[in-house]
Amino acid sequence: MIQTREAGATWSGNHRYRATEVLLPSDFDELAEVVASADSLRVQATRHTFNDVADCDASLVSLERLPTRIEMIDDRVRVEGLVTFAQLAPVIEAEGRALHNLGSLPHISVAGATATGTHGSGVRNGNLSSAVRALEIMDAEGHTQRIDQTHEWFPAAAVGIGAFGVVTAVELQTEPTYEVTQQAYTGVSWSDIAGDPERVFGGSRSVSVFTTWGDPAHDLIWAKSDDGDPAWVEELGGQPVGDDIHLGRIRTVDNTTPRATPGPWHTRLPHFRADALPSDGDEIQSEYFVPFASAREALAAVRAIAPAFDAHLLVTELRTVAADELWLSPAYQRDVLAIHFTWRNDTAGVLGVLPAIEAALAPFEVRPHWGKAFTMPGADVRATLERVDEFVGAARAADPRGVFRNDFLRRTLGL
Ligand SMILES: Cc1cc2nc3c(=O)[nH]c(=O)nc-3n(C[C@H](O)[C@H](O)[C@H](O)COP(=O)(O)OP(=O)(O)OC[C@H]3O[C@@H](n4cnc5c(N)ncnc54)[C@H](O)[C@@H]3O)c2cc1C
Repeated sequence: MIQTREAGATWSGNHRYRATEVLLPSDFDELAEVVASADSLRVQATRHTFNDVADCDASLVSLERLPTRIEMIDDRVRVEGLVTFAQLAPVIEAEGRALHNLGSLPHISVAGATATGTHGSGVRNGNLSSAVRALEIMDAEGHTQRIDQTHEWFPAAAVGIGAFGVVTAVELQTEPTYEVTQQAYTGVSWSDIAGDPERVFGGSRSVSVFTTWGDPAHDLIWAKSDDGDPAWVEELGGQPVGDDIHLGRIRTVDNTTPRATPGPWHTRLPHFRADALPSDGDEIQSEYFVPFASAREALAAVRAIAPAFDAHLLVTELRTVAADELWLSPAYQRDVLAIHFTWRNDTAGVLGVLPAIEAALAPFEVRPHWGKAFTMPGADVRATLERVDEFVGAARAADPRGVFRNDFLRRTLGL
């Protein structure tokens, strides 16, 4: 008898899963039984999404009772099951290896993060999915196949949004380990930030800008360098922040990674420490991607309508992601500026302001983050995804019974 538990809600509680239960197989044979007997199934991983992307009307399945092996294979690392970046990073660091980047928090699963194109920042850093070199995917018949970069489905499956089956293992590219020093600065004017995005975002290995679109006291540049002090921020008038760091109106304190001292990549690239509650906790997130070449105009367009959403905003974070070749990646064949919003946890209020932001960004072929709240109609989303038809074709071929399709995939991608 396969164990079950309640489906519950997403990490921040903004979406209560409609699914009746979560199935908890204890090994891969039980997982194969679960999958082969299901008409409809989605994987629930670490639940750090803000919409119904992981939901369905039947059952969810979790890999939390399955083995979580991590093994180095030459310059790649293979992770099995529900491994998080917090579990993975120290293991590869001990082997003298590193990942090219991390998201703002290490609490998320490797399979779930790469399924949605999760990213950190850096004009030369692709998103976390861009490090995927192979996936092992269990299909709806319970058979597992390895999809590597030579497989025709690879550019679809690497940002697969769960449509190809249960990802039982992911292989990621690694590189020699490196150290990062980070510092946060106030005092850089908005006109310098928005007027010269190439200088700001290209200044260090990873740069984030935090803003509330009007109050200069909330504008903060967070620079993560692997080559010493980021002198460019001080040239722009930036003053290092002391011990207390405030990200806009986010309430949590003492949850960030150490600043001003060098440390291994995985202890500095995430903003939030693995042992602390990340971000605010009581929140909803949205994020939109526009071509980096349109950054000035896109930032001006959002700032012009900021009074309309200000009451709902905790903070905006601006980051960059380098182009890749993954069909559903928000950075598919274009370097992008990521415009992120952390909102107060008021679903009706947030859904009320998103259309205005989406309309302001529409001239810039805006793409949404798959794991965050958005209201763009599917037709508008599909219009910016040059390879969506190929993605749909590959997903249908991989899952002819449609077991892994859900409302999100149907309304957003027409799958
Ligand atoms: C505090 C906070 C900070 C965040 N910071 C960032 C950030 O810096 N950058 C960024 O881009 N995003 C960020 N996010 C968003 C989040 O990291 C992503 O949306 C990510 O997808 C979450 O992964 P998960 O496994 O927790 O989510 P889940 O909701 O559990 O899963 C995400 C999707 O992947 C699918 N999936 C998961 N595991 C598997 C599997 N084994 N096989 C098949 N499908 C699977 C699920 O079905 C679902 O569709 C943040 C979220 C929070 C809450």
